Amino acid sequence: MSYLKTSIEYLKGVGTARAELLKKELGIFTFTDLLFHFPYRHIDRSQIYAIKDIQADLPYIQLKGKITNLHTVGQKKGQRLVGYLTDDSGSVELVWFQGAKWIKESIKEAKTYLVFGKPSEFNGSINMVHPTIDDADAADHKKYLHIMPFYSVTERMRTKGLDSKVLVKLTNNLLADPKFNIEENLPNAVISALKLMPRKEAFLQIHFPQNAAALAAAEHRLKFEELFFIQLRLLRFKIKRKEIYNGIKLEQIGDNFNIFYKSYLPFELTGAQKRVIKEIRADVKSGVQMNRLLQGDVGSGKTVVALLSMLMALDNGYQACLMAPTEILAQQHYQTICSLLQNMNVCVRLLTGSTKTKDRKEILEGLAAGNIHMLIGTHALIEEVVQFKNLGLAVIDEQHRFGVEQRARLWKKNQFPPHVLVMTATPIPRTLAMTLYGDLDASVIDELPAGRKPIKTLHQFDSNRLRLYGFMKEEIAKGRQVYVVYPLIQESEKMDYMNLQHGFEEIIKHFEHPTYQVCMVHGKMKPADKDAEMNRFVKGQAHIMVATTVIEVGVNVPNASIMVIESAERFGLSQLHQLRGRVGRGAEQSYCILMTDYKLSTDAKLRLKTMCETNNGFEISEVDLRLRGPGELEGTAQSGVLDLKIADLAKDQLLLQQARNAAQDLLDKDPELKKPENLQLMHYFAEYNRNAHWGRIS
Ligand code: ADP
Ligand code: MG
Repeated sequence: MSYLKTSIEYLKGVGTARAELLKKELGIFTFTDLLFHFPYRHIDRSQIYAIKDIQADLPYIQLKGKITNLHTVGQKKGQRLVGYLTDDSGSVELVWFQGAKWIKESIKEAKTYLVFGKPSEFNGSINMVHPTIDDADAADHKKYLHIMPFYSVTERMRTKGLDSKVLVKLTNNLLADPKFNIEENLPNAVISALKLMPRKEAFLQIHFPQNAAALAAAEHRLKFEELFFIQLRLLRFKIKRKEIYNGIKLEQIGDNFNIFYKSYLPFELTGAQKRVIKEIRADVKSGVQMNRLLQGDVGSGKTVVALLSMLMALDNGYQACLMAPTEILAQQHYQTICSLLQNMNVCVRLLTGSTKTKDRKEILEGLAAGNIHMLIGTHALIEEVVQFKNLGLAVIDEQHRFGVEQRARLWKKNQFPPHVLVMTATPIPRTLAMTLYGDLDASVIDELPAGRKPIKTLHQFDSNRLRLYGFMKEEIAKGRQVYVVYPLIQESEKMDYMNLQHGFEEIIKHFEHPTYQVCMVHGKMKPADKDAEMNRFVKGQAHIMVATTVIEVGVNVPNASIMVIESAERFGLSQLHQLRGRVGRGAEQSYCILMTDYKLSTDAKLRLKTMCETNNGFEISEVDLRLRGPGELEGTAQSGVLDLKIADLAKDQLLLQQARNAAQDLLDKDPELKKPENLQLMHYFAEYNRNAHWGRIS
């Protein structure tokens, strides 16, 4: 068995007790696991500062000099030990609140010390509290003069004496062993073209760097490697899938598509919509299964693209389905599509969790017999019992709320897997798209339908509420309608309902009946009541709708021109953007007004500023990624791809693109990875595929 696969208890300095801790607390089972437990930061002790150069805002620094005049000052709790460290350039105060006795006894005035700590400012002068002190005259003092790694450990490890310092020793034992070796896994061509540090060197330098430049090069190499293999795997998967799965050939463009396009499409398609339809058309007639991701901002018109694609399937004698993440959204799609197709001979049905048993039975029979051409629904669509006669295309709206497994289950509905079109509701950052959906082909609708005026977004403090009400009255006088949305965040549900109720009463007070009609919608209402209230707004009978985020995806009222978002600081960026997308659907100028208190966190300020500055969902998603990190973005947590050890999708965009290009390039030249120069890589890649938790990403 190879050295790196050795169980961790056999490493010098570990033993059974520490091995238990390492396994339980950090998931370190083998030498390799320890090797991959990268330092979370390094501290540069290779430099020695002159005392005259110290400033209070410096990070940890190292000084060298003599310590004199140790004495105790203060009373009781304020009591502390103070001394002075002096070098050729000056002196600085050192302070200890604890361990005074031990320090006093061990420090000798004649000796020279290496003093390491963080300068801080106290009463206008600089001092260093609880510095680390090492004997500069000792024979082994050189061991302190390097860049030191710091490793994360848990509280439990620390109380048992297994802290970062111990991990430094253990890692050193691992790397210093003559048996330590780690093979290169990238082809030489890639290493030299991108000037990457060799692999073994990178592992040595990431833990114990010689200098800052070596550390940076090591990080760069290891990040590249991590991203490269993810991309290689995704791209390989894409090639393989195209080999394995014969796609259904949708060759014809027939009556369904043509008649709809010529006679019933209520508007001219945008250039972007046309381009995407062409891309889809090329896919579905190619004989290879389509797996395409369609990204487009709120309101960019993805639904009609989905509909036209489904009509292509129908024209070739196949069925099509459209799956949405919520009941409201499925219903909305169903209504939209039924009304668009009302004069055509297409049988469309809706299947959701609340479909009545009798209807359900009839739908299942109709699907199996092929009488139903188009099925719209929720998760209910992918249940085993739902069997199509011949499903040709599956459209999945708002992919990021569906697990990838669910996507895979759709394929199993046929002898040949249907073509799959995935539509994202909110744009996602490029790096995330490339990683989460790197095996898919991508299309983007980057153009809004003509005639839309960009929504004006403003941030207002609560104290300006009366002005807001005045503005709302002006717009209502012009015949417009207004949304007022309150946050509803689960932990504080009760509070949120109180706020909603209070807000509603406040509005009713200022917008008096019967001049103004106000309706209210929230998730706890009975469906019938909710529908009734919504309908009042949709029909224009109510001027103001006070609501929780249930309206995020639910309604389409082009006459609404103001979206007021209360406590806007409590919403995430993508949610704010989604809510804003409810207005700006008609020809009139629309407004989104973000109401907040004066007290705002830095992040909240950035979110509000971003909203005020841009209407572009892609830009917003990039900021969101930077603020929250990939793991926190909605729906991405369950994806194993994002357990990155060292790369960071928010920061390493360029590197990711390089990695993807390099992987693509490699596969272009050697699709099966069989060339001799790629032997090492293939060897590593095979093992990588066995170990990774990739089941979730197919
Ligand atoms: P989303 O991409 O957010 O799903 P929708 O498909 O719901 O957007 O479209 C938003 C609105 O824009 C709908 O009312 C739709 O009818 C309209 N729309 C879509 N495409 C066009 C177009 N090319 N010209 C004018 N209006 C369009
Ligand atoms: Mg949509």
